[in-house]
Amino acid sequence: MSQPNDPEVTLDPADWQAFRRDAHQMLDAAINKMETAREGRVWTPLPDAKKDDYRAPLPAHGTGSDDIVEQLTDLLPYGVGNTHPRFFGWVHGSGTPSNILADMTAAAMNANLGGRDHGAIYVEQQVIAWAREIVGFPADCGGLLVSGTSIATIIALKAARDQACDYTSRQTGPAAGLIGYTSAQTHSCVAQAFDVLGLGRDALRQVPVNAAFEMDLDVLREMIADDRAAGLSPFVIIGTAGAVNVGAIDDLDQIADIAATEDMWFHIDGAFGAMAILSERMRPSLKGMERAHSLAFDFHKWLHVNYDAGMVLVRSEAAHRKAFSARPDYLQSAARGLAGGDFWPTDYGPELSRGFRALKVWTQIVSQGTDKLGAVITQNCAQASYLADLVDKTKDLERLAPVSMNICCFRYAPAGMTDAALDRLNDDIVVGLQEAGIAAPSTTKINGQLAIRVNITNHRTQLSDLDILVKAVGEIGAKLVP
Ligand SMILES: *Cc1c(COP(=O)(O)O)cnc(C)c1O
Repeated sequence: MSQPNDPEVTLDPADWQAFRRDAHQMLDAAINKMETAREGRVWTPLPDAKKDDYRAPLPAHGTGSDDIVEQLTDLLPYGVGNTHPRFFGWVHGSGTPSNILADMTAAAMNANLGGRDHGAIYVEQQVIAWAREIVGFPADCGGLLVSGTSIATIIALKAARDQACDYTSRQTGPAAGLIGYTSAQTHSCVAQAFDVLGLGRDALRQVPVNAAFEMDLDVLREMIADDRAAGLSPFVIIGTAGAVNVGAIDDLDQIADIAATEDMWFHIDGAFGAMAILSERMRPSLKGMERAHSLAFDFHKWLHVNYDAGMVLVRSEAAHRKAFSARPDYLQSAARGLAGGDFWPTDYGPELSRGFRALKVWTQIVSQGTDKLGAVITQNCAQASYLADLVDKTKDLERLAPVSMNICCFRYAPAGMTDAALDRLNDDIVVGLQEAGIAAPSTTKINGQLAIRVNITNHRTQLSDLDILVKAVGEIGAKLVP
């Protein structure tokens, strides 16, 4: 039992001077990590002994901040490697040091962006306004900062689903027979969204692609007609601006025409590709993006905002809000006071409490500016073309797909080996590169053949890094060939 004279408990430090010293030390360690991002290994797995550090008993008594600084600093080397110039796997952004400042500020404010009238809300509105300006959406569209394109896709497709059901779906679940269409190259998050939204994965038709890996629009038209003839209800077409495997961009303008003719919702997965609109070189390929009903994309990929930050934009703010708003009495807005403000983010997505992701995005855009962010994207595309040329003129390397943006897929293919043996060999080469810490590409299948997939969404990559990669592929490959 606590007595009236006992000091009351707080979680604040007892010694602020000591905390200040520890925090400065941690900040220096964080800056050192960023300053030396070009050096050393790409991926360094966590050693077994250190894994045990994270299997410790639940502490009843805390250690204070001294020990914490040491433990946090110890963890810094063991990232996935995406801050390194030779990280080429999947589609990861490489981050910037200025995000450290934004995250520090956000942590100090500890803002909850579900709604209400406070500074952070205006920052998020600013970021949404800039995002819609970048992609050419109307000034009165709806938008929300989210963790990434996966959740952005769920939110956008819920708006599409609910509009198609005249919002009865919010009460009684989706009507039967709703069908969506996307290309066979589309990211798995779209099928996942169909699952989550109760439409079922089977309701998502996979439209085959042409030689450039873009959705075959003649087949799309036929599939829609067949489904209508069968009494089903086609309601959404999902185009891709930058598909994961090879970076293909669907013909967005033509898909917008088809969606208009068919009276369907047009959604775009632009996870990394949408931001390529900031690049003079890529902008023409994205024509039609501004016509979509909704767009999902990430700031943590090609704008290098540190994880995580993505966005959903919905052309019709009303459709966006009507799919999510559901505020009970204890969350009502007021005309004045802290519960005021017109923009309550909780009206535009499934979350109530939300952190201050917007500040990282705001800081990135303000400190770098869109010209420079676009120039880095152009540079990455030129680097992918350089790599393609290098592959084409290097003995035993074979390119497996055209380079339409920032992704180059190839394999090490000495004469006389079967496809199955080449698949195993190239898989081993990629693992070898990763384990040696030299580079971190990933793998994919292109027309059934296993490819070394090099994705460049990295503002630290230089041409010399691609030379190192190609040389290492040849060396590791030669060692592995029996
Ligand atoms: C990365 C990616 C996604 C998923 O985005 P997250 O931010 O990881 O949720 C979806 N589509 C494409 C094309 C992607 O590259």
